[in-house]
Amino acid sequence: MNISEHVVATDVLVVGAGMAGSFAAIRARELGAETVIVEQGKSGFCGMGARGMHQLRVVLPEDDLDAVMEGTVKECEYIIDQDYAEMAIKEMWDRFQDLLKFGIKFREDESGQIEWFFMDTYFPEFKQRCTTWEPMGGHVQLLKLKGEAIRRGVKVLDRIFIVDLLTVDGKVCGAVGFDTIKGDFYLFKTKAVVLACSGSIGPGHGMPQLTGDGWAMALRAGAELRSMEFANSVVGAGVPRVSGPFFVHLYSSPMPDYPITNAMGEEFLEKYERTRKIPGGRLQAGPPWLRQGLAMLREIREGRGPCTIDWRVPDMGNRLREYYASYFNKVLVQMKHSGITLDKSVGVLNLGIVSGQGGGIRINVNAETTLPGLCAAGIASDQLGAVSHSTLCGLAGAAITGYRAGESAAKHALAQPKSDVISAGQVNQLKNEIYAPLGHKQGVLSNDIRSGVADAWINIDIREEPRLKKAQEQLEELGKETPKLSADDPHELVKCHKVKNLILYSQATAEAALLRCETRLGHYRLDYPMTDNKNWLKWVINRQVGGELQTYVEDIPIERWKYKPEPVVFDPLEPSKKEAS
Ligand SMILES: Cc1cc2nc3c(=O)[nH]c(=O)nc-3n(C[C@H](O)[C@H](O)[C@H](O)COP(=O)(O)OP(=O)(O)OC[C@H]3O[C@@H](n4cnc5c(N)ncnc54)[C@H](O)[C@@H]3O)c2cc1C
Repeated sequence: MNISEHVVATDVLVVGAGMAGSFAAIRARELGAETVIVEQGKSGFCGMGARGMHQLRVVLPEDDLDAVMEGTVKECEYIIDQDYAEMAIKEMWDRFQDLLKFGIKFREDESGQIEWFFMDTYFPEFKQRCTTWEPMGGHVQLLKLKGEAIRRGVKVLDRIFIVDLLTVDGKVCGAVGFDTIKGDFYLFKTKAVVLACSGSIGPGHGMPQLTGDGWAMALRAGAELRSMEFANSVVGAGVPRVSGPFFVHLYSSPMPDYPITNAMGEEFLEKYERTRKIPGGRLQAGPPWLRQGLAMLREIREGRGPCTIDWRVPDMGNRLREYYASYFNKVLVQMKHSGITLDKSVGVLNLGIVSGQGGGIRINVNAETTLPGLCAAGIASDQLGAVSHSTLCGLAGAAITGYRAGESAAKHALAQPKSDVISAGQVNQLKNEIYAPLGHKQGVLSNDIRSGVADAWINIDIREEPRLKKAQEQLEELGKETPKLSADDPHELVKCHKVKNLILYSQATAEAALLRCETRLGHYRLDYPMTDNKNWLKWVINRQVGGELQTYVEDIPIERWKYKPEPVVFDPLEPSKKEAS
């Protein structure tokens, strides 16, 4: 293969053209920094944003901000940085106004006002205010954001896969990657980098292009990851054969009258304090998915599986259709393609995975990482503990952290008198590593290693010490195979690097999950089923030192913050009954 070389110099490099990357680039440019976005695919059509843009959480200035704050801290089960939460809740309205300025539309009522709806949370007294993107599904909105970035002078380079960061004296000063079609080598010389290249929802689940590249790059460069045990894998429920099965069950939760039962025919959600129907109201939807998944897992674990949903109740087909069409129309399309007729079905709940989105590259309130010159945003970052389905997660969190990352990166870049001199040796070494698989004609295929990682994930998802240790062994063995990876074109080369990233972030997740000896949020430890607010108000940190992964805990500075849980150990499904000190 004939490989040309390109050198791109800029103040700020943003990796990833999703919601977080677009906001970062727009803000960096607004502050006067020369800015380039680089995207592995076609910008606007890749990543979670292109697929997942249904509702946007918003807080209005006139909302009860204290109630939102308390609700958010509780939703995040006290792992969120409360300094960030307070600031971000206030900033949500500004980012929403930015979206409106960029020409993005949200559903309106008959009088032309934005239509709000409210999602239940774990806490009956707190509901999240949401609006619906118009149209739903992200590429229309992402293209508007891209247009806005370009209009302001941001350069967008598509189909370039970033493999690694460059550092000088521990400071990030660039990145290397290659063209995913032609294979050309790209060297980016920059004063600051924003990693906004998302995370991963596991090796076998729906979005193979997202393999935690930012997490892995950050680790290799020396930055810290935080809360990786929450970054992935919520045990959930689904219907086989429907893509995105998780949602079929859980989005239909607001309709209370279809039976969700265990093998004994018991409506098991009713047995648990946190998953039962609210008197006079509806079954909780939204964030309590985590708890519903946990309840189901407990039923199966205690020998009362499988669990099923019976949709054969009068008019259920039409009611689901009406519900999904008004809110989640893609699910309808998925059902149509899969040939499932819901009102003739009994769905078997199984263990599905959806991103927990609570961990990633550790950032501070300004979206700076622990490495100078490196910022992170959106799912690539840990969003300071804003977990999946909480007020500050998802697209709102991506906009807020993206904006802050762009601002910090621009300030850092503009304060540097000149670019660092990048060592030719470092670049050459990385270049050799990037293209090495092209030289291995009889090597190992990335797909084979990927299947191995998927197997290891079964042991990471169903968490208990022997399984997690087994996963670690599996991942270590797979890691030994990666020097033999083989590729014969740029597409296969991308997959080789992605599978290496997949292994590295999976190792970080397994180590973090092994260390946290309790159950909290989407981290379910079968051997430690209690939530432990006495001993586990801690963050788990991963870092790579000399190529070795180190994992350790750090106390959450809860004493400094307003909202503190009772220091008790309790069953997360039945807290009111089984609290024990
Ligand atoms: C099915 C689904 C439904 C969802 N629904 C909602 C919802 O209704 N409301 C809500 O608030 N949130 C929702 N979410 C979550 C939301 O979509 C994400 O939180 C948000 O889009 C994250 O934005 P991001 O910019 O961090 O990442 P992404 O949108 O994933 O963007 C990251 C970009 O980086 C690129 N990239 C990755 N690796 C590299 C690399 N090595 N080199 C170059 N580029 C790279 C990717 O191709 C991608 O374009 C949903 C998610 C899913 C999967």
